[in-house]
Amino acid sequence: MSDSKKDKEKPKNHDLLWAPWRMEYISDSHRKNECIFCTLPKSSDDRKNLIVFRNTHVFVILNRYPYNNGHLMVVPYKHTSELSALSAQEKLELFNVIQNSQQVLKKVMAAQGFNIGANIGTVAGAGIDAHIHFHVVPRWIGDTNCMPVISCTKVISESLGDTWEKLYKEFNKKRRKK
Ligand SMILES: [Zn+2]
Repeated sequence: MSDSKKDKEKPKNHDLLWAPWRMEYISDSHRKNECIFCTLPKSSDDRKNLIVFRNTHVFVILNRYPYNNGHLMVVPYKHTSELSALSAQEKLELFNVIQNSQQVLKKVMAAQGFNIGANIGTVAGAGIDAHIHFHVVPRWIGDTNCMPVISCTKVISESLGDTWEKLYKEFNKKRRKK
């Protein structure tokens, strides 16, 4: 297969800028044959794993290869590919934490809009289809000319470590107040 044909068949978007991260992520979890959404929360190194918030049934993690700065994923601890496998309590918490994530991104990063959703099944574009997860992608006026969920190259202006630091503080400040 020629390179130009390969290019046409492969989604370009964020792969271009974040290829080194992505490869590390994929090869690591593939080699160990593990689900990262199950293994990462078991580690206590939230900074390294980019986990910004832990609740009872769900946790929030920064996407290591984001569509936009501050791209979060809200993930139930339960390993399932089906929304219907979640209990009422888990679904309620999932939605509340999605909403909370939106508020944090608004406050910390001055997000002006959001793309929120899930790709369910490989055919729908899920990178990790065995374990359901919701994307919360902050948007700013003029951040891109195309929907980042479809395809476009992004320049990520802030390092993941800096973003983690700011979001972790705000998420956990909120929790302490409750
Ligand atoms: Zn899992």
